[in-house]
Amino acid sequence: MTIEGLFTESDRSIVDRAARLAEGLVLRYFNLASDDWVKNPYSLLTWKEASSCLRDTNVFAQTVRFGSRKRGKAQHPEHKPNYYGILLQDPAILRALLRPQRHDLWTLGLFVLTHELVHIVRFRKFEVDFCGPQNEREKEEELVHDITREMLSGVENMDNLFSLYESRLRI
Ligand SMILES: [Zn+2]
Repeated sequence: MTIEGLFTESDRSIVDRAARLAEGLVLRYFNLASDDWVKNPYSLLTWKEASSCLRDTNVFAQTVRFGSRKRGKAQHPEHKPNYYGILLQDPAILRALLRPQRHDLWTLGLFVLTHELVHIVRFRKFEVDFCGPQNEREKEEELVHDITREMLSGVENMDNLFSLYESRLRI
C-alpha cells in the first residue's frame, strides 16, 4: 500500500477478493440466480483506468454506467443494455485507512463494494433511475446504505465504517 497514492498490485488483489465476497452477499440478499454476475458482468475500475474527469478524492467510489439510458421499442436492434461499472477512488480509500480508527483495506473494500453492487442491482432490477433528481438520489443513497448495513452487520470492524459513512463520507 502506498500512502496517498494509488492501489498497488497487492491492494488490487485484496479488493478483487472483497468484490467476490460482496457479489455473493448481494446475490444472497436479493435472492438472485448464482450466475447473475456472470450474465450481467460489471467492470471494477481504479484511477489507473479512469479518465481524469471521473477522478474524485471526496468519495470512495461511484457507480458508472455505459450505454444508452432509454430502452423500449424505438431502440436500435443492436442496442446493448446498460452496462455498469464501479470506479474505486484509490486515493480516498487509502487516505481513509490512515484515520485514527484504523481500518484495513479488506474491510473498507468489502464495505464500499457491497454498497456499490447494491446500487447496481437496484438500477438493473428495481428500475431506480440512474439520472434521477437530487432528492431521489439522496433517498436512494440512504436506502442503499441501510441495505448494506443490514448485509454487513456483525462483520468484524464494520461498525467503525458505518459511523464513518454516517458522519459524512459518501460513496
Ligand atoms: Zn452510494
